This record gives sequence, structure tokens and C-alpha cells, in this order.
Amino acid sequence: MYMWNLWHGCHKVSEGCRHCYVYRRDSSVGVDSTVVHKTLSFRLPLSKSRSGQWKIPPGSTVFTCFTSDFFIEEADPWREEAWKMIRLRKDLHFFMVTKRPERILQCIPSDWGEGYPNVTLCCTMENQLMADRRLPVFRDIPALHKEIICEPLLGKIDFRGELSPSWCGEITVGGESGPEARVCDYSWVLDIRRQCIEAGVDFHFKQTGALFRKDGRLYRIDRKFQISQAGKASIDFHVSVERPSRQDFPEQ
Ligand code: SF4
Repeated sequence: MYMWNLWHGCHKVSEGCRHCYVYRRDSSVGVDSTVVHKTLSFRLPLSKSRSGQWKIPPGSTVFTCFTSDFFIEEADPWREEAWKMIRLRKDLHFFMVTKRPERILQCIPSDWGEGYPNVTLCCTMENQLMADRRLPVFRDIPALHKEIICEPLLGKIDFRGELSPSWCGEITVGGESGPEARVCDYSWVLDIRRQCIEAGVDFHFKQTGALFRKDGRLYRIDRKFQISQAGKASIDFHVSVERPSRQDFPEQ
């Protein structure tokens, strides 16, 4: 798994951003997270080692923009070059997670068509308000691979019968990490799982978060156990269809 942080800096747009780890880390070193700038890693997919090998080997999964948003406004002048690199590295698979699905259509390249085979677009829906607002927009974006991310999951979400494998490959669910983490209730997780199974959409319970409630009892879960505890629940659901192979999303 490789991280490609093309640009750094972001603006908070919804409840899921409240305890953004980018802001937390930047403030600890006196950096203003609201200033969006290109990073030194901008050309990483085309970088080679001294021996002439790609720094990102063929067949790798590349997670983009984990300290920003691929579709943020300030990056408009830089994005075309990013798409060009993505086109050139057809041997990699790129994942982009956004809270700005309303900007995707104006940001995709002219030859996008039904989507690039090596790109998966992911949209975050952390609560009912954001699901109601973002799902209809995201659903209608042309793309060969799309997924929903409910992380940090902040409440019960009713997808209102809109889930379908025809446009959504998977829903990943996770609680909130960090010192100010809000509660993630297991019943919310199970309810999303139920909706995925009924719709035939893959479901992945990635991590519990730091404050996890199960059967009315609240648990504080240390960071190092949040993924393993979710795994122990053993509630992932996979439909047997061909999907781009990848590792899990990086920790935030
Ligand atoms: S969109 Fe992501 S990176 Fe940007 S402020 Fe929100 S949580 Fe942070």
C-alpha cells in the first residue's frame, strides 16, 4: 500500500471533519492546515529509484490525498497533471476519498468517459444528513469503481433503499479515533451491514474507534486494538464479484 499526498491542507466541511487528524497533527507543529499547497511528493507515481525502478512498483494500491481532499478547490490548477500521471500509471490502482462529491463532475478529465479502470472514487457519509446530501450526487457520478466510507460513523444511517452493486462496490464503516473521539454504536454498524446484505453490496467493518458502545455498554478501546477488535466481530460481507484488489484504507 502506498500513500500519495499530492497536496496538503484542507477546510472542514461537515461533522466528520470536526476532529480532523490533519488539523490535529498540523497544530502540534504550528502549521496552518487551511493553507493548501502542493507537496514534494506531487510527482511520486512517476518517480524512479537510481536503479531505474518505479518507486511505486507495478500492481500497487495507491491511496491519495490523506492530508487533503483530491477535489478541493485550491487544487484545481494542479489536478490535470495529477490525472495525467494516473493515466500513465495504468499498472497502479488509485483510491480517492472525498467529502466533496459535488465537485467531482467539474474535476474529472475530458477523457474520463465512464471512468478510469485504475481509479476508485470513495465518498464519506458519516451521518444521516451527509448521506441524504451526498449519496444522490455521488450515485450519479460516472465511475467504474465507487465506494462509500462511513468513518467516523456518527449515527444511524438509513440509505433509503438507494444502495445497489450497480454503482457502489463496498461500504467501509469505522468509529472515530483520537483523544476527542465520539461514540460509535455497534447497532449502527450492524444496521449498515444489514442494508448492504439486502442490497448485495460488500460491507467492511474496519475499526471500532476509540469510544465504542455495544449493548448499551461503553468501551474505551486503545488505538492498537481498534482494528483487531473490529476484525474479531467477523461481520464483513463480500459478494463474489470481480473487484480491484487492495489493502485496507490507511489509518487516520
Ligand atoms: S475533508 Fe478530510 S482532510 Fe479535509 S478537513 Fe475534512 S476530515 Fe480533514
